[in-house]
Amino acid sequence: MEADYRGRFAPSPTGPLHAGSLVAALASWLDARAHQGQWLVRIEDVDTPRCVPGADHTILEQLAQCGMVPDEPPVWQSQRGALYQQALDSLTTRGLAYPCACTRQDIARALAASGHARERHGELVYPGTCRSGLHGRSARAWRLGTRTDSRITWQDRLLGPQSQDVAQEVGDFVLKRADGLWAYQLAVVVDDAAQGITDIVRGEDLADNTARQILLQRALGLPLPRYLHTPLVLGANGEKLSKQNGAQALDTSEPLVLLRQAGAVLGLHPDTAAATPQDWLRQAVPRWAARLKNRF
Ligand code: GLU
Repeated sequence: MEADYRGRFAPSPTGPLHAGSLVAALASWLDARAHQGQWLVRIEDVDTPRCVPGADHTILEQLAQCGMVPDEPPVWQSQRGALYQQALDSLTTRGLAYPCACTRQDIARALAASGHARERHGELVYPGTCRSGLHGRSARAWRLGTRTDSRITWQDRLLGPQSQDVAQEVGDFVLKRADGLWAYQLAVVVDDAAQGITDIVRGEDLADNTARQILLQRALGLPLPRYLHTPLVLGANGEKLSKQNGAQALDTSEPLVLLRQAGAVLGLHPDTAAATPQDWLRQAVPRWAARLKNRF
């Protein structure tokens, strides 16, 4: 057990908690408690057009109703732009990040001309047009250069060994967007380090971002946290439950029911006799520890 364990739940306030995000919140809380560590909440509100006013406070209330209260006051990413700018400046000064003038159309055209159009999750893999400079055009976005050998391997505490060649599979990815907003990848890496996060526990849909984040941690000289990605909750159509596909906001008037459901997704079935969310959580901690035996 490490006394210096620091974990976090980092919701984007695009709506209230749903059954899927509660699983991630619960797993991160249990893992922190099982390590006798700290559990923080960070509101990831950098993608302002997707944020719903008031959803941040709703999420914090929902968590509290389920017995999960952060050990430190929550932070809001929208107030931390100066930190992200510092990190971007440091990468740019060292030639690791570069400004990019390309529109989506420019990228599509360059890819078509090279006959190497590659797409990933509906995004075109950037062909590297602006690596050699802007050639008189004005900067729109900033990207991390992935020129060097960028195969990243890492060990997920639940999923096991993982590997991704970021240059090949993702390409030079955006750190600051053309609309001036900070990209998730940069903000999350800067904040996890600034907050001393040792362990990241989050939904499996985010696992694919991990290699990019490790590449950034290395480029910025930051400590590498450990990772654990939790199973997703699937909707009736078999797709990942998300706010985007209409997941129901949780009714927290029955927090014990919600905790039991979220616990079942994690393979935890504490005593049904728990009278309060706090009781249920207390019983779930050793079960989580037992489930992750040898993966601490
Ligand atoms: N804000 C991200 C989301 O809600 C999660 C970020 C993370 O846990 O790394 O999808």
